[in-house]
Amino acid sequence: MSKYDVAVIGSGPGGYVAAIRCAQLGMKTAIIEKYSTLGGTCLNVGCIPSKALLDSSHHYDDAIKHFKEHGIDIPGEIKVNLKQMIARKQTVVDTTTGGIDFLMKKNKIDVYEGVGSFIDATHIKVTGKDATKIEATNTIIATGSKPSSLPFINIDKERIITSTEALKLKEIPKHMIIIGGGVIGLELGQVYRRLGAEVSIVEYMDRIIPTMDASLSKELNKVFKKAKFKMNVSHKVKSVERVGDEVIVKADNKKGEEVEFKGDYCLVSVGRRPYTDGLNAEAAGVKLTDRGQIETNAHLQTSASNIYAIGDVVKGAMLAHKASEEGSMVAEIIAGQKPHIDYNLIPGVVYTWPEVAAVGKTEEQLKEAGVAYKSGSFPMRALGRSRASMDIDGFVKILADEKTDEILGVHMIGARCADLIAEAVVAMEYRASAEDISRMSHAHPTFAEAIKEAALAATEDRALHV
Ligand code: FAD
Ligand code: NAD
Repeated sequence: MSKYDVAVIGSGPGGYVAAIRCAQLGMKTAIIEKYSTLGGTCLNVGCIPSKALLDSSHHYDDAIKHFKEHGIDIPGEIKVNLKQMIARKQTVVDTTTGGIDFLMKKNKIDVYEGVGSFIDATHIKVTGKDATKIEATNTIIATGSKPSSLPFINIDKERIITSTEALKLKEIPKHMIIIGGGVIGLELGQVYRRLGAEVSIVEYMDRIIPTMDASLSKELNKVFKKAKFKMNVSHKVKSVERVGDEVIVKADNKKGEEVEFKGDYCLVSVGRRPYTDGLNAEAAGVKLTDRGQIETNAHLQTSASNIYAIGDVVKGAMLAHKASEEGSMVAEIIAGQKPHIDYNLIPGVVYTWPEVAAVGKTEEQLKEAGVAYKSGSFPMRALGRSRASMDIDGFVKILADEKTDEILGVHMIGARCADLIAEAVVAMEYRASAEDISRMSHAHPTFAEAIKEAALAATEDRALHV
């Protein structure tokens, strides 16, 4: 039986990063993955393919809406070739997952293809292509998550679908009904809206992206309405039925009246659930919470002291970069180091256009906690860079402590905010004040100037360009 210092179960951005870090720290490491490609949800059916389709559909949208104004005339009709768009997405996925194979080899990590199940706390059975048993002094569980649904919905994967199927449709829907106005619903909704589908968002809460700062929900809602999305917030879905090629969704609106939506596809995007099927966690003495997550302490150690768990299968935001940070942290803990993650500073991004990004506390959270704060905002439309690229929607908002000026939260919506948020994370990791940012030179003309201007507004209400 092969023996390892560490076995990692699951090869998503949590698991594969944990394995690399363990190997870097000199530990003999194995990784077990039930699918034939490495990379987990993120690389195969999550972050990477969704961004590939967002990018392709963005090019099309620009071509039909903005090229003329830019002075680019394309003779003939500009058409979508969905088959090619999906094929390109798959090439991006294949190249990226292939990169993980390379990284495993480079770091001398043994890869086992099959389902990993605990025999006991130090032995794991692999069932599948590389069937075997291995012994591991420590194990890191990184089994991730799967789409969740509502009890009355039958996901048939043809017309009533999850994100996984929405990434490989063979036709552009005529009318896509999306249950859940969160990250997946809005990102994939924007892909198909751009390609010509009518899209209806049906959201239970009173605003889309309800966990983010309310000002971001409001601005994104405005942009989506302008793009003729049908936005239905405060709607409680009560039935989803397929009749032939039609899907009928019934919901109660705020007034308690029944509303019916008829479409040819229904995307169910109401969140994801932790995944532990086949793991046989009990055999190792690993406990689950009542929400099905693996129970861990602050060091991500489970109820079995030599077994750790990371990523979507434990508490916290279901984000790839959160899973990766946890992977590195656990590897370093096993190696005897004392790493730390500040969960308040894990940024959240929605890759719609305009992009939405945030870090730290929202205004709602500060109000609820009774923290005295000041706020400074700057509109993207006031930037020369925004006008040059015709990306004038959005703003940057900085929330800072009323007395000390320390930045407590940064919320932004606009072009390239997914990248711009990194500046806010760095500033907050170093506990910068709004004045610190306002005194730093930001290259002109860039979208990043909006951050400096919002900092000036927060510090002394003296933005320069509004
Ligand atoms: P996963 O990536 O889910 O990987 C778990 C792996 O474990 C899987 O490969 C699974 O097959 C394997 N596994 C499970 N059980 C076993 C077993 N018993 N034996 C062997 N293998 C097993 N996050 C972002 O930060 N940015 C984004 O832009 C983003 N976009 C997304 C878009 C979509 C459509 C979706 C669905 C998700 C997106 N996410 C995004 C979320 C992100 O994909 C997850 O947070 C991330 O993949 C979690 O990583 P993980 O390593 O915990 O688990
Ligand atoms: P989500 O939690 O972002 O959104 C789910 C939405 O569904 C919420 O707005 C919720 O209020 C709504 N909802 C729940 N029950 C409902 C009901 N009965 N009727 C109508 N609406 C209902 O979840 P998601 O969009 O499915 O994404 C799953 C996970 O994947 C998220 O945790 C997210 O972090 C991750 N993800 C991240 C990214 C990114 O980082 N850009 C992209 C995609 C997915």
